[in-house]
Parts: sequence; structure tokens; C-alpha cells
Amino acid sequence: MMITRREGLKSLALAAGALAIGSQSNPAAAQGSAEPHKVPALGYDYDALEPFIDAETMKIHHDKHHAAYVAKLNQALAKHPHLAAKPLDTLLSQLDAQPEDIRNDLRNHGGGHANHSLFWQCLKKGGSAPAGALLKDIETHFKNQQTLEEQLVTSGLKVFGSGWVWLTVRDAKLVVETSPNQDSPLMSGAKPLLGIDVWEHAYYLKYQNKRADYLAAMMKLINWDFVAARHAGRA
Ligand code: MN
Repeated sequence: MMITRREGLKSLALAAGALAIGSQSNPAAAQGSAEPHKVPALGYDYDALEPFIDAETMKIHHDKHHAAYVAKLNQALAKHPHLAAKPLDTLLSQLDAQPEDIRNDLRNHGGGHANHSLFWQCLKKGGSAPAGALLKDIETHFKNQQTLEEQLVTSGLKVFGSGWVWLTVRDAKLVVETSPNQDSPLMSGAKPLLGIDVWEHAYYLKYQNKRADYLAAMMKLINWDFVAARHAGRA
């Protein structure tokens, strides 16, 4: 296949964005905190995403589930204090290089912390629409927003048990992919732009077994402005 100059430049830009992974420092750890990782604020009220996501689900999900991942990640890092100041994205993207006795904790609880921290920012009351360079890239790889959203829903439905559905930049291409448990695309060399939690704890109170209804509702809440910032390497 011929690669045009324009496509080549776009690929380079995406690759540069992917390389920016893990560039943020970890300020709490730099100050020697015993709890290097903190649960980030939600950024909106628990009931902001009603009626699609109920306030009780949001409260339990953020304050209990996410907080538990952070607590267990900090417990694991206490065994290897020199890792506390390392950006989480770096630890996850170099998982095989981390001490074996905490590798599984980093995978599950570090993954859980990273995934949820991204997830909250991917949602917004009323959602938004992709525009600019992100929209162009969506049109290149998926035809249009609707086709992309259909793939996100279909792929999310296929996750057996607990996991995530993602829009990532992998090998300089936009890709819809899934992961089991709390595995992050960072662990296999991709940059997650958008993550949707398909663990039952994300939807069971309101949707029970109806994951399809939950995923359809999520499409009304996607903060495409944030996804565009990730795509551009600004987040
Ligand atoms: Mn979750």
C-alpha cells in the first residue's frame, strides 16, 4: 500500500504522542509521601451523568472500587520504595522489568488506578462530538463516528467476564480493542485514548445484566474533547 506524505506525517505525529506516555512526574511521591498515589477527584458531581449513570453507582465506583485499587497499589509499592516516584504509566508500559513479587499487583491495582483515572475524564454530562484532527483520523480508520461507536459497543459486548473496551493508538493507527480484568493497553505498547469500563460494578445497579443498554448509554456521555486532547498528546 502506498503511504502518502500526509499519512506519513500523521503517523509520525501519532507516534510522537504515544512516546509522550509516562512523561508526567508523580508529585506526591517526590515529596516522600507514604501514599504516593491518590484517588483523583471525579471532576463532576456523582449525579452529573444521570440518568445514564446513577449517582450511587458513581459514588461506589469512585470512592470504593477506585480507592481500593489505589490503596493496594500503594501497599505493593511500599515493598519497593524506589518505584514510588516513577510515573504509573511508565511502570505499566515496562511491566516485565518490574520486581516479580509486585508485578501482579502492579498489573491489577496499578492497571485499575490508571484505567479508572482515565475513565472518569472520558465522561461528561451531555457528551461532545469529535472534531479536528481526531475526527479526520476516525474517518480514516472507521469511516465515521457512528461506525466507531458501533465497534466500541460490539467489542464491549464481547468481553467475557470483566474488562475494558478501548480506543487506542497502536502502531500509529486508531484501533478499537479490549482487555481482560484491569489490563491496560499501555502494557502492550499502545496509548489508550478512550476507555470504557465493562466490569459489572460499572453498571449493575441500574442495568443489571443488560450491558448492551449500558454501552448504548455510554455513547451519549463520551467527552470527545478529552479524547482529542489525548490524541494530540495534550493529555
Ligand atoms: Mn471499574
